[in-house]
Amino acid sequence: MPILEKISQSSRARYWTDSIPLEFHYTAGVAGEEFRRELKKNGRFLASKCAKCKNSYVPARMFCPSCFIEMKETRTLEGPGYVYSYTTVNRNRTGEPSDPVTIALIRLEGEKGGIVHKLNNEPSKVTFGMKVVAILKDNAERTGALTDIIAFKPA
Ligand SMILES: [Zn+2]
Repeated sequence: MPILEKISQSSRARYWTDSIPLEFHYTAGVAGEEFRRELKKNGRFLASKCAKCKNSYVPARMFCPSCFIEMKETRTLEGPGYVYSYTTVNRNRTGEPSDPVTIALIRLEGEKGGIVHKLNNEPSKVTFGMKVVAILKDNAERTGALTDIIAFKPA
């Protein structure tokens, strides 16, 4: 009975490699879908505001993480965002060397949360707090995904 065998040396453990075909589908959720629709249709970011604590969150979400109540008030955001944090990546997904890509957490004035996306700028010229705006795909090409944002660039 192999299952009752006890292995005293880890080098004697047997293994094999294989794969399990799995497919996942995630929904954006109610507020996430509204956010994506606004981005697709009008190229703007949608925020949701809590009626109790008055905090406003981007991307829009359904519940306030502080008060745990439903947020029904939404508003679209105008104006530039700013670089809250960033890093430059020199490798692709498989770990191979690639051209440097700067990834930044973009926050919007007065909003909690933010958007993590590519930043089109020379890495040495990126500074914390620099104003940036989104570069969007053309209206007809947008699908309601975050990839509708090509990148952010200095404002
Ligand atoms: Zn709240």
